[in-house]
Amino acid sequence: MSTTSEPDCGRIPFSFELYPPRSDAAATALHATIATMASAGPDFISVTYGANGSSRSSSLEVLTHILKTTTVDPMAHLTCVGSSSLEASRLIREFLDAGVRSFLALRGDPPEGAGEGEAFLGDLGSAAELVQLIHRVQAERVPYRETVIPGIPGARAVKTEREKVRIAVAAFPNGHPRSRSTSQDIDTLLAKQAAGANLAITQLFFHADHYLSFIQRARTAGVEFPILPGIMPVTSPARLRRILELSGEELPSELAIQLEVEPTREGQREIGTRHATDLARELIAGGAPGLHLYAFNQADTVLAVLAGAGLIKPVLG
Ligand code: FAD
Repeated sequence: MSTTSEPDCGRIPFSFELYPPRSDAAATALHATIATMASAGPDFISVTYGANGSSRSSSLEVLTHILKTTTVDPMAHLTCVGSSSLEASRLIREFLDAGVRSFLALRGDPPEGAGEGEAFLGDLGSAAELVQLIHRVQAERVPYRETVIPGIPGARAVKTEREKVRIAVAAFPNGHPRSRSTSQDIDTLLAKQAAGANLAITQLFFHADHYLSFIQRARTAGVEFPILPGIMPVTSPARLRRILELSGEELPSELAIQLEVEPTREGQREIGTRHATDLARELIAGGAPGLHLYAFNQADTVLAVLAGAGLIKPVLG
C-alpha cells in the first residue's frame, strides 16, 4: 500500500479515547491531558466504561469535566451486559441529563467463565438493543426545538426537530473473539445500523489492509455509516502483550521483535509512535473517514502520531 499521499492539516477528523482515573493524582493529571488534547481540536473524546458499571460515577465525572472545560464533544461508552432494561434506561437518562449527547453503545464482556444465555447476562442481549434503548430514552428525555420558518404570509410555519444524539458502536475488522464467522461480524454491524447507530469505531488492528478489506465487505453488505479505525500506539512489549490478551488480535511479529530488542523506554516509544504513524498515513491514503486514537490517558504519543500523519501541526518541545 502506498503512503505517498500528504493529508492536509485539519481536513480529516480525529478523536481520542480515555479511561476514568483510579486515584486523585491520576484525575489531576488527566485534567491536564484533556486540556492538551482539546487544544488539538478533536471531533470528540470518548471515555470508557468499566465492566458491569464499575466506573459509572468516575466515567461521568470525566465526561462532565470535558463538557465544562472544553468545547469538545464528550462520548460516553456504555455497556449493557448484566443490566436490566430498567437499570440501563436509568443510566442513559443520567448521562443525558448531565448533557452527554454522544454514546458508544456496547454489549460488554460477560463475567469470566460465563456462558451465553445465562440469566445474569441481563435483559439486553446485544449492543444493537442498547442502541434502540438509547434512542427510546432520548426521545422521552431530550425536548423538541421549534423554529419558526420565516417568509410564509398568513401562516406560522414551525420546523420541529430534536437535538441529535450520536450513537457509535464497535466494529471488529479481524472478527470478534466470540464471533463464529466473518459474516457474523458484518451481520452484527448491519443489526446495529438497523437499530439506529450512526458511527462505528473499530477494535485496534496492526495492518491497514485488515481495516480496508473489512470496509469493503461492510459496504458491499450495505453498511453505510462511517467506520473510524481505532489506532493504538504500542510503546512497550508489556503493553503489546496486554492488549493482545484483551483484544484477541494476532501478534504483529515485526513490531513485537522491534520492541523486544530495543533496550530503552524512549526507543520503544519511538518505535510504537512510528508504527502507529505509518498505519495512520496508510489508512488516510486508503480513504478512512477519520482516526480514533487509543490514548492511554497520555497526550504526547497520540499528538505525535497525528502530527506525523499530517493532521495537526507538529507539537513543539
Ligand atoms: P456485540 O456487537 O453485540 O457483539 C460482539 C460480537 O459478538 C459480534 O461479532 C457478535 O456476532 C458476537 N456475538 C454476540 N452475541 C453472541 C452470541 N450470543 N453468540 C455468539 N456470538 C455472539 N468494553 C467495556 O467493558 N468497556 C468499554 O468502555 C469498552 N470500549 C470499547 C471500545 C471499542 C472501540 C471496542 C471495539 C470495544 C470496547 N469494549 C469495551 C469491548 C466490548 O465490550 C467487547 O467487544 C464485548 O465483548 C462485546 O461488545 P459489543 O458491543 O462488540 O457486542
